[in-house]
Amino acid sequence: MIERCVQIVKGGGQLDFDQALALAEQADLEELCRAADTLCRDIHGKSFDLCSIINARSGKCSEDCRYCAQSSRYNVDISCYEQIDKETALAQARENDSYGVRRLSLVTAGRSQKLEQLEAMGELYRGMARETDLLFCASMGFLTPESARQLYAFGVRRYHCNLESCREFFPSICTSHSWQEKLETLKIALAAGMDLCSGGIIGMGETLAHRLQLAFELRELGVLSIPINILSPIPGTPLATMEPISLDEVLCSVALFRFINPKAIIRIAGGRGRFGNKQYKFFAAGANGAIVGDYLTTMGSGVERDLTEFAKLGFDLSPKKKGEGA
Ligand code: SF4
Repeated sequence: MIERCVQIVKGGGQLDFDQALALAEQADLEELCRAADTLCRDIHGKSFDLCSIINARSGKCSEDCRYCAQSSRYNVDISCYEQIDKETALAQARENDSYGVRRLSLVTAGRSQKLEQLEAMGELYRGMARETDLLFCASMGFLTPESARQLYAFGVRRYHCNLESCREFFPSICTSHSWQEKLETLKIALAAGMDLCSGGIIGMGETLAHRLQLAFELRELGVLSIPINILSPIPGTPLATMEPISLDEVLCSVALFRFINPKAIIRIAGGRGRFGNKQYKFFAAGANGAIVGDYLTTMGSGVERDLTEFAKLGFDLSPKKKGEGA
């Protein structure tokens, strides 16, 4: 069954939902991961996409996403601030640049940003563009056509907004906004000329079929970069007592995301540190990108250790210049 699915994808075809579910449920996991890795290398070669994020505005969010430490509705002790200090942001940008990180995103907590708040973010983007070779992304909640145009004018060429989970499961993890609103924002970003980074979090109580539905929804949108986060249950949030998802379930999900979205960068994001050295198996199971550095409210792996491990897996991490590749 694996070989048949590989041939479909290699031939430029697409798996349908039933084929993907059968693959996930019936294939031997090791063989599945090996096949996803081979597909990834055939399509993307040795290329690996490193990106990083700066938490530009932290905490006090009005929304009720049940996994999130930044919601003002839950009692989690995190550092809250309105806007990161310019020098701190510049120092983080320079450090990422020196490690060969390709893309950097400013991330803000909150439902959306007012135009004057965005203007202040523009200052940060302009400063970083003067001092580094980084490409810029943004993750700033819901967009309007006007705010999307403003971000584009600041040099932002990729917009991040995770669908988080599939349309069907989403109401179980958030009630203050809808999956449809996220979809609208992704369409606004596309219309403004930005490409899309959108994925989700696995391990929030969703089924395997829900995870695959998300992968198909992302395929339909033509998303180029798909971050997969693994839930880190955070004390104080409603998902604090969620049973952590197993390594095998994550591996199976990563491999299936590769089969369903062969041309996308499958990017392992927050939560991978929980698996110690075993986290690097994800990058031999179809993943070809990572968020490195410190995440928003959970600690990431050390960048140098990441770079060493990715190189050992045969990926080419030589710094790319603006305009090269995806
Ligand atoms: S995920 Fe974003 S929108 Fe949801 S509570 Fe956290 S910061 Fe707010």
